[in-house]
Amino acid sequence: MLQKLTPYIRNQLSQPHIRSQYLLKGQPPQEDRGFTSDPLREDMFEVRKGLVHKYENRVLIKISYRCAAHCRFCTRLRQIGNPAGDLRLADIKNIENYLRQNPQVSEVILSGGDPLYTPGNTASVLERLKHITSLRVFRMGTRLPIHSPGSLSNLGVTRLLTLVDQIGHDRPFYILVHFEHPDELTRETRDAIKAIRESHVTVMSQTVFLKGINNSYKILFDLFQRLYDIGVIPYYLYRCDYVKGVEQFICDLEAERQIMTKLRNTLSGIACPTYVIDSPGGGVGKLPVPLKYWDVTNPTKCQDFKGTDVDI
Ligand SMILES: *Cc1c(COP(=O)(O)O)cnc(C)c1O
Ligand code: SF4
Repeated sequence: MLQKLTPYIRNQLSQPHIRSQYLLKGQPPQEDRGFTSDPLREDMFEVRKGLVHKYENRVLIKISYRCAAHCRFCTRLRQIGNPAGDLRLADIKNIENYLRQNPQVSEVILSGGDPLYTPGNTASVLERLKHITSLRVFRMGTRLPIHSPGSLSNLGVTRLLTLVDQIGHDRPFYILVHFEHPDELTRETRDAIKAIRESHVTVMSQTVFLKGINNSYKILFDLFQRLYDIGVIPYYLYRCDYVKGVEQFICDLEAERQIMTKLRNTLSGIACPTYVIDSPGGGVGKLPVPLKYWDVTNPTKCQDFKGTDVDI
C-alpha cells in the first residue's frame, strides 16, 4: 500500500531513498515502543484552533492538515490528510484576535499540512496577519518543491508568492523547505527553489535523521553541501520524534552524534545545521545535542576538529 503520492513522486519511486519515505508495504512490522501519536503535546499547546503557542515570542499556525504527498515518517501522522484541519474564516479571525491581544508574539510560523498546497487559504491568513504590526518575522514551512515542483508555477502558488514577496520586502520572511536525501535534488526541485528565491525571502531547509534513508555521513554531507550550493541554508537536523507509527525510522543516538560531529568538522559553518531533539512528553525546547567535542561530565575539557584535547 502506498501513501498519498503526487505524479512527480510516483515517477521518482525507482529511487530507493525516495521510495522508502512513502512506501508501507515490504517494511518490517512496527515494533511497539509505547510511543504516543502526539509526543510533542502540540494539542495541549493549541490555544485556538490551528494556533500552537509553545514558545513565548513565536507561534505555529496549522493552515490545514493536508499535503501534496504523505510522508511515512510525518511527526503529525495523526492528523495528516484530515480535511477537518482546514481553517475557516471564523478560525482565522480567532487567530488574528489572539495575536492582536498577545503582542509579545513577534513571529508566526505557517505550517500544517503544507501551506503551499492550499495557497488560497494561506493567502487569506497572510492577508490578515500582515496588518498586525507586532508581527515582525514570518516563516512558512513547505515540502511542495520536493513533492510537486511543477506546482510552483500554478496560478494559486504564484499569487501567494507575490504576497510573500510583498511582505518580505518590509519584514524578514523565511521559507523552510524539507529535504531528506540528495536524490531529491533534481533539476525540477532545483528550479522550484530558484522560483522561490525570486521573492524577498531567505530559504532554509530542515531534515530529520531517518534510518535507512539518510543516517550516513556521506549522504548528509552531500545533501547539506548541495543545498548550500543552491542558496539554501540548512537550519535544523532533527532526531526523529518518538511518534507512534514511525518507530522504524528512528536511528541510534550515538551514531547520530558521531555523524553530526564529523559534519561539523567538514561543512562550511553556514552549511551546517543544528542537530536537535524536540523535547518529548510536553517538555518545551528543541534541545541541541552535545557533539563529541565535549566531555559532558566536565565542560572545561573539550576536543577540537582534529581530536586534540583543549582546555577551556
Ligand atoms: C519548532 C517550533 C517553533 C519554532 O522553533 P524555532 O526553534 O524557533 O525554530 C515554534 N513553535 C512550535 C510549536 C514549534 O514546534
Ligand atoms: S510534507 Fe511535512 S507535514 Fe506533510 S506529510 Fe510530509 S512531513 Fe508531514
